[in-house]
Amino acid sequence: MDRKKSDHTIHYHNLIGGSWVKSEQQFEVQHKFTNKTLAFVSRSSQDDITKAVQNALDTFNDRVLTATERYDILTKASSIFLERQEELAMTITCEVGKCIKDARLEVQRAAETFIASAEEAKRISGNGIPIEGQKAQEKKMAFSIRVPVGVIGAITPFNFPFNLTAHKVGPALAAGNAVVLKPAELTPISAIKMAEILMEAGLPGGYLNVVNGYGHEAGQYLLENEQISMYTFTGSPKVGRHIKTVTGIRKITLELGNNSPNIIHHDVPDLTKAAELCVTRGVMNSGQACVSVQRVYVHRDIYERFIEESTNVVKKMTYGDPELEITDVGCMISEKEAERAESWVKEAVDQGAVLVSGGSRDGAVMQPTVLKDVTQNMKVVCEEVFAPVVSIMPYDDIQVAFRLANDTPYGLQVGFFTSNLQLAMQAAKDLCFGGVIINDVSTFRADIMPYGGLKDSGIGKEGPKYAIHEMTDEKTIVINL
Ligand code: NAD
Repeated sequence: MDRKKSDHTIHYHNLIGGSWVKSEQQFEVQHKFTNKTLAFVSRSSQDDITKAVQNALDTFNDRVLTATERYDILTKASSIFLERQEELAMTITCEVGKCIKDARLEVQRAAETFIASAEEAKRISGNGIPIEGQKAQEKKMAFSIRVPVGVIGAITPFNFPFNLTAHKVGPALAAGNAVVLKPAELTPISAIKMAEILMEAGLPGGYLNVVNGYGHEAGQYLLENEQISMYTFTGSPKVGRHIKTVTGIRKITLELGNNSPNIIHHDVPDLTKAAELCVTRGVMNSGQACVSVQRVYVHRDIYERFIEESTNVVKKMTYGDPELEITDVGCMISEKEAERAESWVKEAVDQGAVLVSGGSRDGAVMQPTVLKDVTQNMKVVCEEVFAPVVSIMPYDDIQVAFRLANDTPYGLQVGFFTSNLQLAMQAAKDLCFGGVIINDVSTFRADIMPYGGLKDSGIGKEGPKYAIHEMTDEKTIVINL
């Protein structure tokens, strides 16, 4: 790629029609722990976006890649991810502030996401339609086929810049589309490297274009471009709502926020394990995951034991420099975000919550934090905290716990621990979330499963098979015999 080192600073550009193209203006990407400059990246103008979308459309109209070509490119790219796992993981660690252990895992998951996308590329099919079953249609035959939608605009968040990009680019290409990707301005380098690898794996120019820049500029220009048939967005509810308003009747999938509840009933199969999962999955990536454990409702009979076990786990966790092997929790995306998290914890304590561990920050590093005796109206409970803060409260009646879990505008995933099959089935029906995870936490996600929220958590599903469904149109063919 066209990238030069000067004063040890790397410059990255936009990918348009298979070439790396420099914009007039650049923006800086920093190491989130050291604040050192990592790179300067092209800041797309409206003209850059117009060119990228036109290029994607021309490429798509010229030829749709065959299913086997798509399979070959995605599997090859997946194996390059694994060959370059260490380097890619370090890129994620530097630009996000995520600890290196978790960054390696993210690269591995992205490799699996691409493999699943490649496999699904070979299985895209429509339906047989038994039209002759309707009176007066006996002399007709019908079936449907699924076709790519055309150009997809993909907009991604900062928190999983490699795997969440893989969840958009993998299925979009597998379905035969052309893509214009705008990565988060805070963490664009992982996505740029993904594009570089796809080209190395044989993706011809034009099927994937990368336009870097800020949301209100590059992102907004992308939304206003009518040549884009569909948008796939992961990010905040505020921007998601804006996208829905601007894009009119074009297709969209929105993967938005959550303030994930987890319920630990008195018959939890393994209390120690449940406490460990709640704490570790609540502070992982500094709690900056949409399904991060945030609110934990614990039956009063086991409340004190659960707090004790959680305390043991959180007190052992190491935090700080994300590049160190021993670090469990790195830093947040910015000092401003850590400051916000710290002030929310302070506010909760002022309102009567009890700090079990953590609660303060040093720069962008927020300590893994556990609060107990929180109440439903505290910000750390009722809003998306998006920080390493786990809030625990007791309940007496499971029906009340279900009601409290549902008492949110969000509906992405929920965790419920019980040994009672009947209650588990009731939870599956009554908890208003896109994913109900029994005997594991809300954070659980296997990359092949359908994943997406109800209510304000979004529209549509991800997971390669389900994303491909969203990213293709169904056409009905009727034959008059
Ligand atoms: P964000 O909404 O601030 O930014 C996401 C992307 O949108 C970025 O690329 C940004 O540049 C772009 N953007 C911003 N304004 C725009 C505009 N006007 N037009 C077009 N694009 C615009 O989100 P973030 O801070 O990067 O990520 C955190 C949020 O993402 C949290 O709310 C989290 O819950 C959510 N998230 C959800 C999922 C999920 O799968 N449901 C996964 C990860 C993160």
